Amino acid sequence: MPLPVRTLPVVQNWDCHNCGSCCREYLVHVTDEEKKRIEEQGWSKEPEFAGKSLFRRVKGRWALNDQEGGCIFLDERGWCRIHSRFGPEGKPLACRVYPFLLVPAGNHWKIGLRFACPSVTGDIGRPIRDHLADVRHYADLLLRQTPEAEHSEPPPLQGRQRVAWDDLQRFVDALGRIIARGDDRIERRLRKCLALATLCREARFDTVRGKRLEEFLAILDGALDGEVAERPEDVPAPSWIGRLLFRQWLALYIRKDTGQNAGIARRGRLALLAAAVRFVRGRGQVPAVHGWLPNVTFEQLEQIPPPWPSSCEQLLERYYLTKLYSMQFAGPTNFWLGFWDGLESLALTFPAIAWLSRAFSDRAAHEAVSLALRIVDDSFGYHPLLGTARQRLSLRILSFRGEIPRLIAWYGRTAAGTR
Ligand code: SF4
Repeated sequence: MPLPVRTLPVVQNWDCHNCGSCCREYLVHVTDEEKKRIEEQGWSKEPEFAGKSLFRRVKGRWALNDQEGGCIFLDERGWCRIHSRFGPEGKPLACRVYPFLLVPAGNHWKIGLRFACPSVTGDIGRPIRDHLADVRHYADLLLRQTPEAEHSEPPPLQGRQRVAWDDLQRFVDALGRIIARGDDRIERRLRKCLALATLCREARFDTVRGKRLEEFLAILDGALDGEVAERPEDVPAPSWIGRLLFRQWLALYIRKDTGQNAGIARRGRLALLAAAVRFVRGRGQVPAVHGWLPNVTFEQLEQIPPPWPSSCEQLLERYYLTKLYSMQFAGPTNFWLGFWDGLESLALTFPAIAWLSRAFSDRAAHEAVSLALRIVDDSFGYHPLLGTARQRLSLRILSFRGEIPRLIAWYGRTAAGTR
């Protein structure tokens, strides 16, 4: 029985513009069935594949092999040979689904999007609803690969505290309403979401359910305006521990280890270790952990920038609404983090994007923020080191000490102050 797919309550457009970025950036894992199907397509008899392996083993799983310039199946024009000859049905499911993301949510799938794709960040193409027929087809194929998605449990709120999917959706809706309210800058809206999370973490939901939960969340929401400092300048600065731990998150959100834009990882483990030490020190040259990072120092990236134009605020509003309503930030699509922990890890992307956008100060602000967003979202929920016990502990410390809203305010300051 196929699971229905629910689209996003967010105005978002997309079409593939064949930039080839995804074919050059990612390692594509394939199932045994997909490997067999591609082998049966007869590529090994073609002269351009003579002596080359179509697949390689990566951590016990099969993946498409790559070569200089990206996936082994890319032709000289940058097009996918499998797609050209056999159509989309011939490709692995991972290639077809991108940049969509299907998040199991009990009795349906939620749609998410990867903002690493320039057409998603740029909002270029047809509305997402026009792709629903394709996404439903992908969802059916994905259910065959992961039948357990049909009975998915909601991620816990925190620890062992769980609510049903419907109530989890009520929390998402409350957070979504805060992010969609354009009367604040996005940094304050995120601080309000964290303030709501703090209040909810302290409450017990054993008896508050359904309509009563909605009323409870509406009361909390109404109180946030008076609780959350209006200007980022009025929020205490992050402590040295907060800034040190944040730089470790930065190093992971920015790091690119595979593909044509891989950074220092190309030079091996020792270079990566040296880069990690430099991020801990936070002085001097920022290590080139991503191929797009220009020559820039940590000190330069601490300079307060001019205010962002409204287009940057709108881009980030679209981003956070998409991440919230897709629920990508918690459960299996974000290293099995609980709901509130996942929200905090999502909120940490804001200071990371704001910090990184300063590295592209030679470009227009919207382009700089778009580039920073593409880099950070490429890692969010994907870079395996973000799911380690060490990062979970780091997130707990940042949360317990109240450092995350401070970091958001600190990197959300602008030279002209707030409006
Ligand atoms: S990155 Fe996006 S626009 Fe570029 S080829 Fe992939 S899906 Fe298409």
